[in-house]
Amino acid sequence: MITIQRALISVSDKTGLVPLAQTLHEFGCEIISTGGTGKVLQDNGIPITEIQSVTGNPEAFGGRMKTISFVIESALLFDREKDQAEARTLNIQPIDMVVCNLYPFKNVLESGADLETLIENIDIGGPTMVRAAAKNFKYVAVVTDTADYDRIIAELQANQGALSLETRRRLMRKAFNHTADYDAMIATAMDALDGEQSLRLAFIGGKTLRYGENSHQTAMYYREKEAGANSLYDMNVQHGKELSFNNILDIYGAIESVRRLKDSGCAVIKHTNPCGLCEGTEGVDQRTIFEAAWAGDPVSAFGSIIAFNRPVERNTVEFLALDAEDKSQRKFVEVLIAPKFSAESLEYLQLHKNLRVIEYDTSSAMCPKDLRYLNGSLLVQDSDTELYSKLEPVTDIKADVERLHGLLEFGLKAISSIKSNSIILAREKEGLYQLLGMGAGQPNRLISTKLAIEKSRETLSHEYTGDPDQLEAYIKEEIGKAILVSDAFFPFPDNVELAASQGVKIISQPGGSLRDDLVLAACNRLGVAMIFTGLRHFKH
Ligand code: 5GP
Repeated sequence: MITIQRALISVSDKTGLVPLAQTLHEFGCEIISTGGTGKVLQDNGIPITEIQSVTGNPEAFGGRMKTISFVIESALLFDREKDQAEARTLNIQPIDMVVCNLYPFKNVLESGADLETLIENIDIGGPTMVRAAAKNFKYVAVVTDTADYDRIIAELQANQGALSLETRRRLMRKAFNHTADYDAMIATAMDALDGEQSLRLAFIGGKTLRYGENSHQTAMYYREKEAGANSLYDMNVQHGKELSFNNILDIYGAIESVRRLKDSGCAVIKHTNPCGLCEGTEGVDQRTIFEAAWAGDPVSAFGSIIAFNRPVERNTVEFLALDAEDKSQRKFVEVLIAPKFSAESLEYLQLHKNLRVIEYDTSSAMCPKDLRYLNGSLLVQDSDTELYSKLEPVTDIKADVERLHGLLEFGLKAISSIKSNSIILAREKEGLYQLLGMGAGQPNRLISTKLAIEKSRETLSHEYTGDPDQLEAYIKEEIGKAILVSDAFFPFPDNVELAASQGVKIISQPGGSLRDDLVLAACNRLGVAMIFTGLRHFKH
């Protein structure tokens, strides 16, 4: 413990200043302060020692020189064990606490001030004394955040005006982060003025995860310091085991998949891709939407991550049959995400001990930038938020774009949340837009098309309850009503030929290949309607 006998207070933001100074004063601490700070304190009846009487110099050059001085920095850097004799000779009295927040450079910057005003708001004395105090935290406490005042007051009161080493150490870390951020902000602003966009990302938190993608990889999780309330880091885990590295990646994929759906939707995620996705138009209940999303790939849905974009009621999650007598009926999923879970739904989900239940506002805008760190370099792009630049029927058989509009938007939202090369089949049925099948992440687009068709055939066979002899006809009919969406253009007619042979009648793709004419000729020959969207949705 160090009893705070002498404190230096110099703050731009005077919030909460008086109660803190009052507490220090009550414990007999001498308060040294700079001009503006001292005035507020004196106006509130708290006695102060003016900085000039300690430094022996006036505040000079319009306040640019206040605390910077041999006396002040010595008082802060004073090692109470090693420097006693020298301090006596030099007549240096130690200072045990610094309370300082810096000139409000950020506010001035955000107000659009010119260079001269910005420069006037670069604090020099503040960071100097903050860094000196932080360096000497063994003896000095440094308070840089007004949000800490209440805690400090409580600790001073509990310890007769003293602060623990643990507190001083925590404050030291905060102080160095504060001055580092402050300098980074100045540097970034100066770069920007000269047209150079430097990127200084400040991440905090640093939670250790159990492991990374695999058990032999260590992993950490950080929060972007300036991120708003929608930072994924702050997601509200209502129930279940700790989140893993892969869970977090999949949760992000799940949120991305339902975030843009206009109506109530559900995504079933495996390895960041939606293998099931469904959106219900007004009036369709969420349970039906969940069932249709699940039906997109019931095999993969086991152990999946599931997101809803609307509050969830118990009836919806009862589809998981967690209380089924026959355990094989119980549907095992890793994580459920929704903006809200009703108390009854939560109670039901708690039947599954390890299931993670997360409340997160899935509609909140996600990162406007997409960042990839690559061995000492950082790739940055805008996130892929546009769906199409046009919806243009381009074949002899004209797709009815107006009628298909909702389904096309659904399909394009789906395709832009799936790893390339991606192909999906989606249909509209009984008030639902449903992903029938998808092919994702293949180096060869033709294989993605094969996979999407095969998967769609499976979905349709599962739902078919009629005469087995009519199954093939049913599949062809349903595929004929669905749309096939491709994330990028077809370089050759082979994808169209394959799709048409399986009954596909409507295809949407960006267009723009050198061989568009060959692709369109194949469509015309095979009776396929094609729509050009003008926008590619690669996701590497
Ligand atoms: P006050 O309102 O008390 O006059 O000034 C408080 C502000 O002055 C604080 O933000 C503090 O960081 C800053 N400050 C303290 N010492 C110096 C100094 O020597 N030079 C400059 N430029 N700023 C200082």
